Amino acid sequence: MSLCAIGAIVVFQSRRVWLFFLVRLLMARTAVIFDLDGTLTKPILDFDLIRAEIGGIEGPILEALGALSPQRRAEAERVVHRHELRAVERAQLYDGAVEVLSQCRARGYATAILTRNSRDNLNRIIERFDLEVDTARTREDGAVKPSPDGVLSICAEVGAAPEHSWMVGDFLFDILSGQRAGAKTVLMIGDDPVPDFATQADFVVTRLADLLPILDGNRSPNPTV
Ligand SMILES: [Mg+2]
Repeated sequence: MSLCAIGAIVVFQSRRVWLFFLVRLLMARTAVIFDLDGTLTKPILDFDLIRAEIGGIEGPILEALGALSPQRRAEAERVVHRHELRAVERAQLYDGAVEVLSQCRARGYATAILTRNSRDNLNRIIERFDLEVDTARTREDGAVKPSPDGVLSICAEVGAAPEHSWMVGDFLFDILSGQRAGAKTVLMIGDDPVPDFATQADFVVTRLADLLPILDGNRSPNPTV
């Protein structure tokens, strides 16, 4: 093959590579991914009480359950399920939750819920409050937060680029999952004091409605950083 032919192939291939990235950039959507408990719904689950009722476990509950014997784990799962079901029955949305989801969709963003809760409980909440989201991931769908898998899987499904997308949540694991996926992160603290890990989030909000000016690029990053 002549040098000219090789040069033409190199130019052609490099144009294809540039074209691929250009198309990907132009077509990439933004996904706004919300945690459920304590973010869209007001926090009800008492994790300390759940740990106390199970007995002999510490730290994140789902991970602790994974280390129990099959019999102990089945008993512990019944405790978790009972608390989660009660939380669903008593659940209340944060002010603005429905409107913010609607505003995100009106801006052309894909909306999603990523929760460590179960699919049944998520479906009950979605149905009860008529929440409009494009997709969702629960603990039955693979590695839970703080793994980035849920964020990456949602972005892949809706055709969004993680680096153009957002993870919104009330806990460190929400922030870590977004960060590890390459997304921007928003910590929703409601009326609670600002936690130590707030410095790890790109933005901190006290109300869901405060998310919209951030998505529109009209708010400075987290002043606690
Ligand atoms: Mg939460």
